[in-house]
Amino acid sequence: MRGMGGISEMPGVTESEALSTLHRVFGYETFRGEQEEVIEHVVAGGDAVVLMPTGGGKSLCYQIPALVRPGTGVVVSPLIALMQDQVDALRALGVNAGFMNSTQDFDERRVVEAEFLAGELDVLYMAPERLRLDSSLDLLTRGKISVFAIDEAHCVSSWGHDFRPDYLTLSVLGERWPDVPRIALTATATHATHQEITERLGMPTARHFVASFDRPNIQYRIVPKADPKKQLLSFLREEHPGDAGIVYCLSRNSVEKTAEFLSRNGVEAVPYHAGLDAGTRAANQSRFLREEGLVVVATIAFGMGIDKPDVRFVAHLDLPKSVEGYYQETGRAGRDGLPSTAWMAYGLNDVIQQRKMIQSSEGDEAFRRRSASHLESMLALCETAQCRRGQLLAYFGQDPDASACGNCDTCLTPPETWDGTVAAQKVLSTVVRLQRERGQKFGAVQIVDILMGRRTAKVIQFDHDQLSVFGIGEDLPEGDWRGVVRQLLAQGLLAVEGDYGTLVLTEASGTVLRREREVPLRKEPKKPAGSKSGSSSGSRGDRKAKAAAAELPEALQPAFEALRAWRGEQAREQGVP
Ligand code: ADP
Ligand code: MG
Ligand code: ZN
Repeated sequence: MRGMGGISEMPGVTESEALSTLHRVFGYETFRGEQEEVIEHVVAGGDAVVLMPTGGGKSLCYQIPALVRPGTGVVVSPLIALMQDQVDALRALGVNAGFMNSTQDFDERRVVEAEFLAGELDVLYMAPERLRLDSSLDLLTRGKISVFAIDEAHCVSSWGHDFRPDYLTLSVLGERWPDVPRIALTATATHATHQEITERLGMPTARHFVASFDRPNIQYRIVPKADPKKQLLSFLREEHPGDAGIVYCLSRNSVEKTAEFLSRNGVEAVPYHAGLDAGTRAANQSRFLREEGLVVVATIAFGMGIDKPDVRFVAHLDLPKSVEGYYQETGRAGRDGLPSTAWMAYGLNDVIQQRKMIQSSEGDEAFRRRSASHLESMLALCETAQCRRGQLLAYFGQDPDASACGNCDTCLTPPETWDGTVAAQKVLSTVVRLQRERGQKFGAVQIVDILMGRRTAKVIQFDHDQLSVFGIGEDLPEGDWRGVVRQLLAQGLLAVEGDYGTLVLTEASGTVLRREREVPLRKEPKKPAGSKSGSSSGSRGDRKAKAAAAELPEALQPAFEALRAWRGEQAREQGVP
């Protein structure tokens, strides 16, 4: 055996079967983190719940026990699209692996069944829905099983961001095979999820292994959104020329547009979203895995289970729905341990859009509450003036090593804060005036126009220049006002209502209006590099009404258009009591 010294290399001491399997089959020198402890525990027949970040090496935690213990290791995974790849990768290492899912025809499945029953399979991947079928369970009873692995175990949690009802039936495994060890694995580690996994999978006696969730080589940065595509382009040109990376967008349309934009500007980029045909998706994914320096622009449909070690950056052009999602997506960067960047552009419109999406969602009240709470945590991360890594780790219930990591934007350039109490009062009083004196509700654009004393067509149409609050906010530029509104929304001091994103007060708003509390706000950073001059350019104080729209930076135009569309609904807005 090669490599550094270790007790196993001392004469007369034989290495464990787990370690020799690591060397012989996988060709790695040493275990990482808690792998060894987990594996020894499961090989010995114990149940385990394993919380390890993306890229931490969860697969070996069940693959090695599957190889060391007699019988087939059955791996439950929701990642049907990746099963073929995973099986191919294992087969290339000489492991007898197979899978069973809905993409197979009858004959293909028969072959795998026969291999399983003959005891020829080391590892068998199964989609969770298969285990609802009596026929599948009966098949499993007729073979010999070494271990059950439940991968992506957070899918059992209805509190989590990726609930799969089929996971709920997996407790049957413990009931029918009490003597077969089970190992549940996930990269999602909030306390609630952890508890739900243990309860719902029926694993009260399992040992828990919680790895550190810190990814020290990832630099976390969240920048104010002005012209996101251009900001992204300068970020890539300045910091990651020729690097492979993933750019996440919320909609298929923006995925397409962004990929085109990057390609046009000399960055090789391909789109990936569920609306593309399967062939294109597979081709783009395998190009990303094989080529160097390709950028994939994708919706969140892309990435689960993707194992590419040298992803140098993950960029978000839209706000993720939860910290779990953000952490999982950014965790795809830098699996090789080399410096990588998690970069996100975030702005007022993200908040409005997400709040609207939650309100108009099909889900029930509980779903909406849960989504809202996920969003709150995400917003808190965006708006924090503290170390982002510290905030992330705290979210996952882990203590950071230090109060400042030195490798995130807030550590590198601590944001200034200012006393935004008066500004907050101005915004809230404008909302109150509209509501109480006029019985109207409006969105952020109109509120800012009123504050800044702009006689826009809409201001004139509604006589908003007659309001006592008209023009009380001439002291701040528009960008700052948008920042105030955004932070009030993020802090729950203001809320968004209805399909048109009108602003309304919350219970907490009263404490600000009554001067019972102060409102510390983050200063809006200086204009981001690469974007055109900020929103305050030239027009501060001048009241050329119609020019206001034209003067918005390009990136705000879509937002402005969307807000303008609400104007078509003015009649409705006016009708609001
Ligand atoms: P996870 O499922 O936790 O996201 P994977 O199991 O896919 O992570 O492993 C991520 C990468 O780390 C893979 O490329 C894997 O081969 C590699 N890896 C895992 N364990 C080790 C180890 N002990 N030594 C070297 N590389 C490892
Ligand atoms: Mg995995
Ligand atoms: Zn930090």
